[in-house]
Amino acid sequence: MAQMNSPEPTDFIREMIEEHIKTNRFQGRVATRFPPEPNGYLHIGHAKSICLNFGIPAQYGGTCNLRMDDTDPSGESEEYVNSIIQDVKWLGFDWGNRLYFASDYYDRLYQYAIRLIEEGKAYVCSLSPDEIREYRGTLTEPGKESPYRNRSVEENLDLFGRMRAGEFEEGSHVLRAKIDMASPNIVMRDPIIYRIKKAPHYRTGNKWCLYPMYDFAHCLSDSIEKITHSICTLEFENNRPLYDWFLDELKVENHPQQIEFARLNLSCTVLSKRRLIELVGKGVVEGWDDPRMPTLAGMRRRGYTPEAIRNFCSRIGVAKTENLVDLSLLEHCVREDLNQRAPRSMGVLRPLRLVIDNYPEEKKEELECPNHPQNPGMGSRRVPFSRVLYIEQDDFHEDPPKKYNRLGPGREVRLRYSYVIKYAGMVKDPQSGKIIELHCTYDPETLHGPPPDGRKVEGVIHWVSAEHSVPAEVRLYDRLFQVPDPMGEGDDWMKSLNPKSLEILSFCRVESSLRDAPPGSRYQFERQGYFCLDSRDSSPQRLVLNRVVPLRDSWAKVADQKKK
Ligand code: ATP
Ligand code: MG
Repeated sequence: MAQMNSPEPTDFIREMIEEHIKTNRFQGRVATRFPPEPNGYLHIGHAKSICLNFGIPAQYGGTCNLRMDDTDPSGESEEYVNSIIQDVKWLGFDWGNRLYFASDYYDRLYQYAIRLIEEGKAYVCSLSPDEIREYRGTLTEPGKESPYRNRSVEENLDLFGRMRAGEFEEGSHVLRAKIDMASPNIVMRDPIIYRIKKAPHYRTGNKWCLYPMYDFAHCLSDSIEKITHSICTLEFENNRPLYDWFLDELKVENHPQQIEFARLNLSCTVLSKRRLIELVGKGVVEGWDDPRMPTLAGMRRRGYTPEAIRNFCSRIGVAKTENLVDLSLLEHCVREDLNQRAPRSMGVLRPLRLVIDNYPEEKKEELECPNHPQNPGMGSRRVPFSRVLYIEQDDFHEDPPKKYNRLGPGREVRLRYSYVIKYAGMVKDPQSGKIIELHCTYDPETLHGPPPDGRKVEGVIHWVSAEHSVPAEVRLYDRLFQVPDPMGEGDDWMKSLNPKSLEILSFCRVESSLRDAPPGSRYQFERQGYFCLDSRDSSPQRLVLNRVVPLRDSWAKVADQKKK
């Protein structure tokens, strides 16, 4: 089980469970499950549910099952099952040998349905889907009973058997629970239990042409697995009476407690598999693991750590009311974690050639650079220094604005872990007027300390040696949507996609040691942010780095400016 780095804060779910333990409601047992439908990749919203479902039993000495809730053949696949398994593991959780599939319960679920029919609690209804909707009534009007509601047990058993045998077309018959068409809770108005679907299932193949509805399958799967606490999101609150109805009427031995909590909504993001499938399908992103996606696969590839995501889930807590969590909080957690674990390095994203006129042409020095200034335990590395370097284009300004403490005409700056250099001249492209080369001189007295004469320099900038650095492609990722609540735009949600969510810089220069780093390695490029070797596209021959997150939150700055 994953170790949380802070003690779990308590919440209404944990309080309820502690009460159950005290009163011996489930003989002191705590058994939860995480029940994804394998019809897409897991996203950060699922992570909240995973942390809750696995975190609670870890705390109270219980168990958590991983259950594929695969009761709808359309859209489910083995690929999704495998991705779910990989992602839950990566997040740091362990279900032991308790990986289950709702589709393994089909026979038992079918027997449960037969029992309901035999007891006069379910019937085959032959209204059309439109008629069923019409008969259901509205929030203010009661529904109308189906003319098929009083079919005999024998007729129901016969029809249900023939539904299973494939004798009928989709939509011609359904099995419904006989509850109450006048119930104020629409969910209880004779809900559908089984429908005909002539589609092969990725696990059961063509064995079934009849599939159970979620409400029926879910509570019984929970009961079969002896779950004690069935934690789900708020939209199932109205379904709780139905959850209990099935279990009560079938007099099952294990009757779990359903508990609802508010789902995670994250700003500038969509968290619905349906929408994510659309983004993938329409090619808006590269795939499920595109580093801009809110999927765990995307975040992993981007360079987020499981620790950062778990910490985020613990900070947002668990409540009964929905809200919109700011993406900046997630990014803050990522920064906080990477600040501790990512070794420092130097990378120049937009290189400007800089020649040190008084540094000998053939000379090369190896300068000792700490891998983490606050953590000597992370050691140091030797970075080559020579006459021709690259610095960031941004770190020179011909006419420096106020508070610009970098290089400019007449100025001196320190090169990180190296010498103080002084501006000597620049070369411009005669056509474009663009600065293509800088000339400086260095002060040999300044490698290990400030200038001996006490003069002040402007600031510190990073650099790499032109000859000893290696080229790299760097992908700068930004939020996928430019408005806090893309779904607030209704059907036009794709209109608020951020056109600048990906910027590719093809001519970056990085320290040559990165060539030997395994894919997925993360670094802090000093003064820039955190970067991760792309696990799909990077190779020693062609380095590709993803920007995980910049050092500072540039969106906060934008928001501040707007306020002013
Ligand atoms: P989606 O709305 O993305 O299609 P879903 O609820 O249909 O999600 P499931 O595979 O059924 O997806 O989800 C598995 C579990 O994860 C469920 O218990 C569900 O309540 C929970 N879950 C899904 N989305 C979120 C979210 N945004 N926040 C918290 N829990 C979530
Ligand atoms: Mg669902």
